Amino acid sequence: MSRPDRSLSSWEDAYKSTPPWDVGRPQPAFVELLRARELNKGRVLDVGCGTGENALYLAENGFSVSGVDLSTRAIAAARAKTAERSLEADFRAGNALSLEFRDNTFDNIIDSGLFHTFTDHDRPAFTREMARVLVPGGRYFMLCFSEKEPTGWGGPRRITRAEIEESFSPLFSINYIRDSSFATRIHNNGGKAYVTSATRKRV
Ligand code: SAH
Repeated sequence: MSRPDRSLSSWEDAYKSTPPWDVGRPQPAFVELLRARELNKGRVLDVGCGTGENALYLAENGFSVSGVDLSTRAIAAARAKTAERSLEADFRAGNALSLEFRDNTFDNIIDSGLFHTFTDHDRPAFTREMARVLVPGGRYFMLCFSEKEPTGWGGPRRITRAEIEESFSPLFSINYIRDSSFATRIHNNGGKAYVTSATRKRV
């Protein structure tokens, strides 16, 4: 069995208070993707959605959105926001390494800070699962910490371009890996990050 490198209970514990990544607004990198019209029209999965700010931003902008997270506490918070804001979105607890969605369900996937939590061991299962639930030609957009972010403060793994290429190139065409920034509650101007755009290959 594949398992994430942090246990379910540690993710649940993180949401007992407000974790550093839960900034209460969409990540600027995803706002920019929408502004640049990079997403395919249609359905979006926010994988590791947390309390749902990125997913709800896309819901507000006309996408049909699902969000999955291991933490039931995060999912409850995302559902409460959906109701408060009179939006529609399907938030459900689940494991990104074995999703309860059929093949070819989504036109896009967004990943804000999930890939960089996985062990080397779990990466291939994750990328296979992302490819499986995307339509051929579907797009995967990822924001992760980059190796340019100092390691002193702890936090998630830092990811190199080579690691992104190695993980995604078997099943995806990588459109770009660009320098970006990860908004958190502990950085003034964001952590150093990469935003990746990859298209599921038509195999
Ligand atoms: N995308 C959110 C949360 C990022 S933190 C945001 O930007 O605010 C990483 C999230 O991934 C946490 O909410 C954690 O509970 C979730 N997570 C970790 N492993 C997971 C897995 N295997 N499947 C689904 N979600 C997972």
